[in-house]
Amino acid sequence: MIEVTLLGTGSPIPDPDRAGPSTLVRAGGQTFLVDCGRGVQQRLAATGSGANALSALLLTHLHSDHIADLGDVIITRWVTTFVPDPAPLQIIGPPGTADVVNATLRAFGHDIGYRIAHHADLTAPPPVEVHECTEGTVWDRDGVRILVAPTDHRPVTPTIGFRVEHAGASVVLAGDTVPCESLDRLATGAGALVHTVIRKDLVNQLPMQRIRDICDYHSSVEEAAATAARAGVGILILTHYVPGIAAGTEDEWRALAASAFDRQIELGDDLHRVEVHPGVCARSRS
Ligand SMILES: [Zn+2]
Ligand SMILES: [Zn+2]
Repeated sequence: MIEVTLLGTGSPIPDPDRAGPSTLVRAGGQTFLVDCGRGVQQRLAATGSGANALSALLLTHLHSDHIADLGDVIITRWVTTFVPDPAPLQIIGPPGTADVVNATLRAFGHDIGYRIAHHADLTAPPPVEVHECTEGTVWDRDGVRILVAPTDHRPVTPTIGFRVEHAGASVVLAGDTVPCESLDRLATGAGALVHTVIRKDLVNQLPMQRIRDICDYHSSVEEAAATAARAGVGILILTHYVPGIAAGTEDEWRALAASAFDRQIELGDDLHRVEVHPGVCARSRS
């Protein structure tokens, strides 16, 4: 079984009830944080997990809303890991990730210096290991395999999606993307597809062109559902709602998804949890 928890279902627009984009994936005793938007660690704490429990941090792309709390995750893991000689935090993301991680470590350089000066058992900066990739197998440990494929969020490039596989169960995390062939391939036959969505019907009515601009590089609810249908996934999990789902309108969002996808649809608030079991896929991966 793979467990998916929507830690943050918000977007770049601050929302009192929704943290920034982030999803927790637990499989075979391993814990993966996918993106680390605003407020992620409060939600992580609510699941009983924490930065020091992560097997790896997976980044779909380097937009600010998806990496807002990167520094907090790196520093908190460092100061709350009490074993001597701790293993480096594994960070897997698209090319550019090493740049961002190095710049983040520089930004926290003063803090890192203070803590090393203050605590005898902290003798080195936070250990991190960055893996940049756009395609292929990026993780294969103790029964958990993670594959990567490019997505299409242009002009943001490169961007990637992840497929986590464990004991016959599989979950694909699309990140921000318009429908594209490589995502279709990555998601083929998966147990679940976690997809970010925007309501283009609502966003296109807003008077600000800068807000309407976001329609051209995201999937609508119907487009994400059509991707799920083409790939034959078992469960469609929607997140990163733009605009945030207004009270009482969940069924409207669900109906839009159901117009293109006739299997299980999941959406909800932060900390919504979905279990993905083996054998829910409609057809095997080709
Ligand atoms: Zn984005
Ligand atoms: Zn985003």
